Amino acid sequence: MIPRLYNKVPYRGRFAPSPTGQLHAGSLMAALGSWIQARKAEGEWLVRIEDIDPPREVSGSKAHILAALEAHGLYWDKDIVYQSDRTEAYLFLISQLRSYFCSCTRQKIKEQRNHIRSLCTPGKALRFQNTSPIYSFDDLFQGLIKIPKDMAEEDFLLMRSDGYFTYQLAVVCDDLAQGITHVIRGEDLLHATGWQLNLMAAISENSPIYGHLPLIRDSRGLKLSKQNHAKPLDYTNSEAVRQNLRTALIGLGHSPPDLSSSELLSWTITT
Ligand SMILES: [Zn+2]
Repeated sequence: MIPRLYNKVPYRGRFAPSPTGQLHAGSLMAALGSWIQARKAEGEWLVRIEDIDPPREVSGSKAHILAALEAHGLYWDKDIVYQSDRTEAYLFLISQLRSYFCSCTRQKIKEQRNHIRSLCTPGKALRFQNTSPIYSFDDLFQGLIKIPKDMAEEDFLLMRSDGYFTYQLAVVCDDLAQGITHVIRGEDLLHATGWQLNLMAAISENSPIYGHLPLIRDSRGLKLSKQNHAKPLDYTNSEAVRQNLRTALIGLGHSPPDLSSSELLSWTITT
């Protein structure tokens, strides 16, 4: 079993950004969506910095993300967990899972359509031996989600060939260890939820409830993300902050009245 960091409470949500850039409109919407759910439930809301990929990390972005959350009135409970401090826990989790080493390149897997274990030769990457695929789950907002068969059955990576832990491994380890009851996040992670439930089932009787929020898209239909060069949010004055919150609330399906930032936050959790 994964050692728990905190005791279980009726509701514990989290926002878990990776420090690959500053907070933008899409990530504020995800943060606000999970914050609203936690505060409405009178539960806890934690922040975890997912800094397990140093090559993609942007210097200074951790501080910017936290400052932006505070500027928007999104205060968190308990200490921030940094995934870069959690190496021992991830290695322990790996020791509890059935896995095998792999040398397959992306190109080889693409040519085969899927990773095929019988054609795999040992290498430096570590794959989960996926013997109990999860083909569907109930999403809090979107109902029954079916996961594509090929994806559900894939022996996905736990550790990359460069020695870094994968997102799937770290997020499952920390969601379980922190006793997260509700994962509210952007729908870009919708189908990866099957892998995460799969890993959880291998080591625990607990798993959170998942709810995936709509993504903000740009005029080309692309997800608003740091990779697509989304603009960092301006949080240097109160009117900018108020407008950011209004935009995020509208994206979440609310019709916010003309209120100050703090009044808007109170309004969201009482309506
Ligand atoms: Zn392989």
